[in-house]
Amino acid sequence: MYDIIIIGGEAAGLFAAAASSEFLKGKELRGLILEGGPEPGRKLLLTGAGQCNLTHGGPIRDFIKHYGNNGGKIRSALYGFSNEALCRFLAGEGLRTAMREDGKIYPASFSAREVRDFLVNKAEQNGFEIRCGRKVRELKPAEDGFRIRTEREEYTAKRVLVCTGGCSYPATGSDGSLFPVLRDLGLEVAEPKPALVPVSVENYPYGGLSGASVSGVRIAAEEGVSEGDLLFTHRAFSGPAALHIARYVHPGARIVIDYCPGTTREETRGMFRAVRQTSAKKELFTVFREIFGPLGLPEALLRVFFETEGIDFRKRFAESSGAEADRILGRIHRDTFIVSGTAGFSEAMVTCGGVALPEAEPKTFESTRMPGLYFAGEVLDADGDTGGYNLQFAFSSAWAAMKDICRQCGSERGIQNDH
Ligand SMILES: Cc1cc2nc3c(=O)[nH]c(=O)nc-3n(C[C@H](O)[C@H](O)[C@H](O)COP(=O)(O)OP(=O)(O)OC[C@H]3O[C@@H](n4cnc5c(N)ncnc54)[C@H](O)[C@@H]3O)c2cc1C
Repeated sequence: MYDIIIIGGEAAGLFAAAASSEFLKGKELRGLILEGGPEPGRKLLLTGAGQCNLTHGGPIRDFIKHYGNNGGKIRSALYGFSNEALCRFLAGEGLRTAMREDGKIYPASFSAREVRDFLVNKAEQNGFEIRCGRKVRELKPAEDGFRIRTEREEYTAKRVLVCTGGCSYPATGSDGSLFPVLRDLGLEVAEPKPALVPVSVENYPYGGLSGASVSGVRIAAEEGVSEGDLLFTHRAFSGPAALHIARYVHPGARIVIDYCPGTTREETRGMFRAVRQTSAKKELFTVFREIFGPLGLPEALLRVFFETEGIDFRKRFAESSGAEADRILGRIHRDTFIVSGTAGFSEAMVTCGGVALPEAEPKTFESTRMPGLYFAGEVLDADGDTGGYNLQFAFSSAWAAMKDICRQCGSERGIQNDH
């Protein structure tokens, strides 16, 4: 009988075990991590392109808006163990962090391996055994706790912390295999869907611009809005603005792109009227380039607007109709598409969906239906933007859950926990 079994040995599971010593005053838990893959922390090694973007350096109150519509529901975990608390904890363990100009925080070594190795070592120092190649197939309440079955063995634990992630990058082991098991327990699991993933649209016209990007774009969908840089690939929209809108869309949904959200359509119309007097002899295309080039619109994108609207870009401004200029302005401010799909889980950095948040106490992530069962990380229905928000949530939720687990184990053994 283990005090605690953690299912999943990645960011959330390893961090929970690594943090346990903070709550137990030198006493150890009889703890075990069951990891389905051949080694722990394989996805961690890929994070931040091998550099591991641990968190973001902005104020913690600004984090909430980076988790879509569920941000408000995870507030207490983020405040309970913030980005600053994370950096302090890591520094206390000798792992220094560094902030880049864009606010993203990394280990000072810029090495994801350092983070992975630190978490594995610290978890083991805290008395957690890590068993790999143990895919959990069954989880059932039992007398005094829970019974867990892998393909080979059976375990019992007083408490279970589920850190099995979502379905993203299934080659790293995050394959959603525990969701049916959790549903069998009667838990509500929001349908998993790829997030932080390029968005494909019907009649995508920008394949020829592959590699070009526009900064400060705004994309609106029915259920949400994203802002940031937009990257054109040969098949789809990518870059932060597209990756962040992915959680709000589905095939058939409409997205509207504003490439110059800093100026309204009326303002740009006004700029047009102003140059009409002085630029009548210029080509319409040149006028657009001169106005929108300094606002960051690539010439090649304007060229595609002209081509797809069937407007000759050698046409003089004076010869063009107001309706033609309006069509181009429409593309600049309201470039509208129907989503045909997103790239699948194999390209999605995170999963939207998972264990519905009302299933877990917001301060401890203990199951509201099944005391002793906890959740942390991406297995929960909370997904963040790029920039370190997903690892921060994995760490904050793992901290909250482990704190409560240790409090309960501690009080069973008469250990005081004053954290
Ligand atoms: C390429 C890439 C780069 C990323 N970069 C960043 C970044 O720089 N910053 C950031 O904040 N976020 C980043 N993310 C997102 C971040 O990695 C995840 O949000 C985070 O790893 C979630 O951690 P987790 O422990 O909750 O789940 P996961 O990392 O998904 O881990 C779940 C673990 O559970 C195991 N498991 C699953 N099912 C079972 C089962 N039935 N039995 C036993 N074990 C099981 C899996 O093998 C896996 O090891 C990136 C993601 C990817 C794919």
